[in-house]
Amino acid sequence: MPLVSMRQLLDEAAKGGYGVGAFNVNNMEQIQAIMEAARETKSPVIVQASRGARAYTNDKFLYHLMLAATELYPEIPMVLHQDHGNSVETCKSAMAMGFTSVMMDGSLMADGKTPSSFEYNVSVTREVVEAAHAKGITVEGEIGCLGGIEDGHGAGGDALAHLTDPDQAVEFVRLTGVDALAIAIGTSHGAYKFTRKPTGETLKMDRLIEIHRRLPNTHLVMHGSSSVPKELQDIINQYGGKLKPTWGVPIEESQLGIKNGVRKINVDTDSRLAITGAIRKVFFEKPEEFDPRSYLKPAREAMEKVVAQRMTQFGQAGHAGDYTPIPLEEMAKRYR
Ligand SMILES: [Zn+2]
Repeated sequence: MPLVSMRQLLDEAAKGGYGVGAFNVNNMEQIQAIMEAARETKSPVIVQASRGARAYTNDKFLYHLMLAATELYPEIPMVLHQDHGNSVETCKSAMAMGFTSVMMDGSLMADGKTPSSFEYNVSVTREVVEAAHAKGITVEGEIGCLGGIEDGHGAGGDALAHLTDPDQAVEFVRLTGVDALAIAIGTSHGAYKFTRKPTGETLKMDRLIEIHRRLPNTHLVMHGSSSVPKELQDIINQYGGKLKPTWGVPIEESQLGIKNGVRKINVDTDSRLAITGAIRKVFFEKPEEFDPRSYLKPAREAMEKVVAQRMTQFGQAGHAGDYTPIPLEEMAKRYR
């Protein structure tokens, strides 16, 4: 199966009332972990690459690993998505490479740090939507700013400082025509999301529900939504790591989001924790080892396990065979 548009995956998820995890990758082992988890759970998948991932891999390598995945897992509908494009150029270069979905994050200026104006956000996002839809490619936008910084991208600081305003969200979707919308409801990128289990004061699910009520036909996206499980933190610390105590987004909150229009849930930190814990364990228990496979294989297995768990919890498991891919040319016709 060729790479498919994210719009089709999310439309199907809306019909079926489930969410789809979007997992970040930087190397072959992470792609393999996701694809094995997808096969095991029969899940459609969104694989996403940040600007940092594209730079780290030289995105040609990344793209060809993804093509290998489409050959090896022909039964799995699979999207390649640009995570947090900082500019029109970044999104256009992803499209030229063969990405089937892009995020234009115009909530920040092109430096990836400074919160932008509403007008700027609308103008850059609309430009990307026009270019992408002409090719049948999906666009995710962002209104409001997430907390934290990851890969040098993010407003940083207080996750409650730039929450999404529901009126602006409605206006933004109307003016840009985005397929999916990332909203800020108190989540942050990275491992340190909350200093204690989040409550309605720190994780604004009521805001999300209000936005869905106003935009029932827009696919909502939750960023910074790893659950940061204590078991994974403990493995790292047990084998010499020094993570400070931290809390992520509880699975039941993501599931509440899915009941209220969330179709894409971004997960990166959980995979990172699983990989690092597995590698630390080998280094600690078998210091005589020096074959990279001796630690990369358990790392890949640990990530596969956590990804398969999320696919089941988000509800995408069992849905890989529900539909046949719509070619991008056909998607482009539909947008016209
Ligand atoms: Zn994000």
